[in-house]
Amino acid sequence: MSSPDVLIIGAGLAGLSCGRHLADAGVSFQIIEASDGIGGRVRTDEMDGFLLDRGFQVLFTAYPEAQRTLDYRALELKKFSSGAFSFFAGRMNKLVDPWRTPGGWGEAMRSDFGGFFDKMRILRLRSRLRTSSIDQIFKRPERSTKEVLVSAGFSEEFIHRFFRPFFAGILLDSELKSSSRMFEFVFKMLSEGDTAVPARGMGAIPAQIASHLPADSIRLNTHAESLHENELTLSGGEPLRARAIVVAADGPAAAHLVGEAEPASRSVTCFYYATEEPPVPHPMLVLNGDGAGPVNNFAVISQVAPSYAPAGKSLVSVTVLGTQQLTDQQLGGFIIAQMKNWFGPMAGSWRHVKSYRIPHAQPQQFPGALEPPKRPVRVRPGIYLCGDHRDNASIQGAMVSGRRAAEAVLADLSR
Ligand SMILES: Cc1cc2nc3c(=O)[nH]c(=O)nc-3n(C[C@H](O)[C@H](O)[C@H](O)COP(=O)(O)OP(=O)(O)OC[C@H]3O[C@@H](n4cnc5c(N)ncnc54)[C@H](O)[C@@H]3O)c2cc1C
Repeated sequence: MSSPDVLIIGAGLAGLSCGRHLADAGVSFQIIEASDGIGGRVRTDEMDGFLLDRGFQVLFTAYPEAQRTLDYRALELKKFSSGAFSFFAGRMNKLVDPWRTPGGWGEAMRSDFGGFFDKMRILRLRSRLRTSSIDQIFKRPERSTKEVLVSAGFSEEFIHRFFRPFFAGILLDSELKSSSRMFEFVFKMLSEGDTAVPARGMGAIPAQIASHLPADSIRLNTHAESLHENELTLSGGEPLRARAIVVAADGPAAAHLVGEAEPASRSVTCFYYATEEPPVPHPMLVLNGDGAGPVNNFAVISQVAPSYAPAGKSLVSVTVLGTQQLTDQQLGGFIIAQMKNWFGPMAGSWRHVKSYRIPHAQPQQFPGALEPPKRPVRVRPGIYLCGDHRDNASIQGAMVSGRRAAEAVLADLSR
């Protein structure tokens, strides 16, 4: 493409969303992407008939930006059952979501997972968050997630058995130090919609956004090395200029390009196993409620979306927080030992398919990181920033930041 008006660095959800808004406005752009594919942290590999998302992740269908821009029907979303299992006291314990489970109120009240007062507090938290807007949630005073749960009166036991592993799986923070704003936002999304994956894997989300972009607008395997004034230099030394440059790289890479301090990272490891039989026959998240062993949470993802595994096989997605110093063989040994404890000797026959270690899965979002909740997208004249580090670490945050950057570019170019 010759001399586009706008250069976008990064083809993750933020860069693609930015491109889509520019395309809708008829402004020419080119996306420069360092890797060999689009999607950034939301990619899916195919291997031996299995669909492997690069790290366990899900779409909350209540995300307003996703509702606005994605075609959910075309994504063929497959839903998790609401609620969760938590392993503690030597057995699986089911936490029922009474709002979404037929006959769930009786089952929830009879269940010995969580005392009566914890259940009542969930009810109160849910109704408070459903009547708060997302903007209101992101304006509330920030505290740690743990502080908010303790001050809401939840018992230490319920926090340990449910909130800790559940939100550690989402915020990648087992100590619940992350901002209460993020916790409340996620809780609101969980209570207002479904948790789902596209039938063809999470990578179908960026692919759908990219399908709205002009055919020649993405240049893969092209690394932006440096940015001086309004000139971009690629790794081979090629200079590129445009009226506007949008840096849509992940936080650490963006910081390098624009000369800001790097955000701290939350990291995660995901192991995939093929099994003959699903260890849990439900499309439900399973949590480590006693805290022993490396596995924080797992799901038989093929129970949620059968297309993730070839016929007759199941695919288990195991999440371990951090990137870990151990080799795959060593860490896999600890994982299988824990799974044998949960499911018996049959876990010994699980076949390791592949694993992913993701050093920068999300920017750290301790209290202060989301203040202001919408960080400026204009860096200096002609240079713009977007990415989950501008809004919040989520599909919603990345997509909103891309739209905000596009709106800023369009406003400035029309002056
Ligand atoms: C394992 C995992 C689980 C998650 N779980 C969830 C979840 O369940 N729900 C949810 O909402 N969110 C989840 N997230 C967060 C969500 O995926 C991210 O917040 C979002 O995808 C970030 O998008 P982005 O466009 O800001 O950044 P990225 O996806 O990181 O995109 C940045 C792109 O820029 C490219 N790039 C970087 N530097 C350069 C350069 N110099 N030159 C050219 N290109 C460059 C990169 O290759 C990349 O493609 C999860 C993330 C991970 C990793």
